[in-house]
Amino acid sequence: MGASLIDGTAAAAQLHAELRVAVQDLTERGATPGLAVVLVGKDPASSVYVRNKIRKSVDAGFRSFHHELPTSTSESDLLSLIARLNAAPDVDGILVQLPLPDHIDARKVTAAIDPAKDVDGFHPVNVGSLSLGAPALIPCTPLGCMLLIKSVRKDLAGASAVIVGRSNIVGKPLTQLLLREDCTITLAHSKTDDLPLVCRSADVLVAAVGRPGLIRGDWIKPGAIVIDVGINRIEREGRQQLVGDVDFDAAQQVAGALTPVPGGVGPMTIACLLRNTVEAACRRRGVGSPF
Ligand code: NDP
Repeated sequence: MGASLIDGTAAAAQLHAELRVAVQDLTERGATPGLAVVLVGKDPASSVYVRNKIRKSVDAGFRSFHHELPTSTSESDLLSLIARLNAAPDVDGILVQLPLPDHIDARKVTAAIDPAKDVDGFHPVNVGSLSLGAPALIPCTPLGCMLLIKSVRKDLAGASAVIVGRSNIVGKPLTQLLLREDCTITLAHSKTDDLPLVCRSADVLVAAVGRPGLIRGDWIKPGAIVIDVGINRIEREGRQQLVGDVDFDAAQQVAGALTPVPGGVGPMTIACLLRNTVEAACRRRGVGSPF
């Protein structure tokens, strides 16, 4: 029996529909949520991400503020812009698209954003709050992963979860989220001994590595939930193609449920950014959150 497909596109569309209702409700109270997106430079992938984020936010009824700055922008000019956005009453969420040019310290920039408007969830206050189990804005990709996992298994207590990849934006925050759900977690990385054996112990296996097809079919426990965060551009039969970190065809024979690439975690990441913006708007304005 093949794995069931976890359809991230459909889940994101459902979340967008809920967001439209929430934004409409806030707008009727005179509090339309506002999202400011800042792009420094002309990195082609970043430009595509930013365009998508703006399009989706406008589509959902948000107020959108777009700041496109040249690569030569100084760190202090960027910090001044962030200070203005922090103070702007109609801005609820601030997103600075990463990576930044080399002459700008991304940590300094992240730390300059008001934690209450930090819809990427990268500010040290939000990172700390998440690990303390306190209310926090949660990084969008791990939040999207959790919503997809919970769409197939509501009660995760006691489940063994393995996350491959320990980045600050995916692996580490996802560890905290799965811990909240009472999973027993292994956070694996490039130095992990016998990765296939570790992966085979997982009821929930998340791959966030950036290596096409790293996770093979025989690394997967039969019936496991497999979440593929990886986005890798490869050339196959003379064509550019997007693939994940999991050998999809092989995994489909073994897993219980599996996300595709594209159409899995990717669409949920943008939907969760907008969800965080609604969350931030509700908190800032003292309105109960719909989520
Ligand atoms: P990073 O490069 O920051 O981290 C990669 C992690 O993978 C590191 O912890 C690294 O280990 C580990 N790793 C590398 N090679 C191996 C290996 N052979 N075996 C085991 N572990 C390994 O990546 P990100 O977290 O930023 O992104 C990971 C992937 O997810 C990328 O493909 C990225 O494009 C994608 N992504 C997708 C998103 C989405 O919306 N769907 C959003 C964000 C990322 P070590 O720490 O030891 O070096």
